[in-house]
Amino acid sequence: MAVMKFQAARELVIERVRSSKPSLQTELIPLQNARTRVLAQAVSADRDLPPFPRSTRDGYAVHAADVSATPAQLRLRGQARAGVSFDGAVGAGDCVEIMTGAPLPAGANAVVMVERTSAAGEYVLINKAVVVGENVVAQGSEASRGESLLAPGRRLGYAEIAMIAAVGLREISVYKPPTVAILPTGDEIVELDVAPGPFEIRNSNSYSLQAQTQAAGGIPVPLGIAEDREDRLREMIERGLEYDVLLLSGGVSAGKFDLVEPVLAQLGAEFYFDGVNIQPGRPLVFGRVGRTFIFGLPGNPLSTMVTFEIFVRPALALLAGEMTAPLIFTRARLTRDLQRKAGLAGFLPAILEGNYYEPEVSPVEWKGSGDVVSLTRANCFLAIPEEAGELKAGEWVSVMMRQ
Ligand code: AMP
Ligand code: MG
Repeated sequence: MAVMKFQAARELVIERVRSSKPSLQTELIPLQNARTRVLAQAVSADRDLPPFPRSTRDGYAVHAADVSATPAQLRLRGQARAGVSFDGAVGAGDCVEIMTGAPLPAGANAVVMVERTSAAGEYVLINKAVVVGENVVAQGSEASRGESLLAPGRRLGYAEIAMIAAVGLREISVYKPPTVAILPTGDEIVELDVAPGPFEIRNSNSYSLQAQTQAAGGIPVPLGIAEDREDRLREMIERGLEYDVLLLSGGVSAGKFDLVEPVLAQLGAEFYFDGVNIQPGRPLVFGRVGRTFIFGLPGNPLSTMVTFEIFVRPALALLAGEMTAPLIFTRARLTRDLQRKAGLAGFLPAILEGNYYEPEVSPVEWKGSGDVVSLTRANCFLAIPEEAGELKAGEWVSVMMRQ
């Protein structure tokens, strides 16, 4: 099978998952538990927003025409505070003291901020002209009653949750998350509760994959470690086929004990690709057995993490009911020269720093894709297009944020 370019491989993942038309189940949950969930219902405004013309300042509600020539002396008629409307109408030559968030009294059409006025008994001196509507948000101008505000398929963050609270929904319908079996492979891999022998390696991939799955809105199901033996691997893969997605780590290179692909083939897998032109992460299998999508991720910890972010995350997003799952890139200036062989799209551990409007990125030291330490010294990936060779200090480069 051909090695694919990373963009094409990512698009293929999205296309395959989308065209599988996953059947999404829904559940009702309390709004306070909604973060990272995906909305399964429409949300619309239950009343105008704001529900009344709202003052954005502390000051005086006036007729703009009365203060077109300043200073203008107006008669103080009363007060409007947040939550309480002024009981009456503001006539010509009148004003009403008003607080931020209070409803604009009938008759008034603008607010003069208090700093531009001086009060003297029952009169107020206005020292600044205002235009109609100044310092007032018109009723319904943010959204009108019945207007649709959120559509199904939206991932819920704090802003969406605030919006839902503002229209009074305490419970909402969300999609049930996809289940994701996690199956690390390798005879040298041991669990954390056993002391590793001198040549054994602790199972870190299962933990990064569980954390990434949770962050991507899936339910991780760790299956334990599969040995590099066909029969054992097959048995455990079969167990993994009970879930929506099966993530394997290791065993996908060209080594003698890399058995993931042959065993998947025995189980009748349909393969979509088995290699991607990226560093780290070149060996990477994507396929399907029955309804279960399968990713055979490379075993080197950095490769496992990077390939999850680029290829598994969008699949989980779609299976979670999300409409889109874009990769977010930003740009920053490179702080030092970087020698590199062209040919593979690079995602190198790096640190994004610099001042507010002058982002700078520095690659961190790393000893290749097995270097589990390097990413903890980094906060992003320096994303290098495959055709790029040497990069120079001061160049603008692309950065993929670590989510
Ligand atoms: P493989 O892809 O099976 O050839 O493994 C590549 C490298 O990743 C080897 O050095 C493995 O020891 C390491 N590795 C594989 N699986 C894991 C795991 N679950 N946790 C940590 N390292 C792993
Ligand atoms: Mg292995």
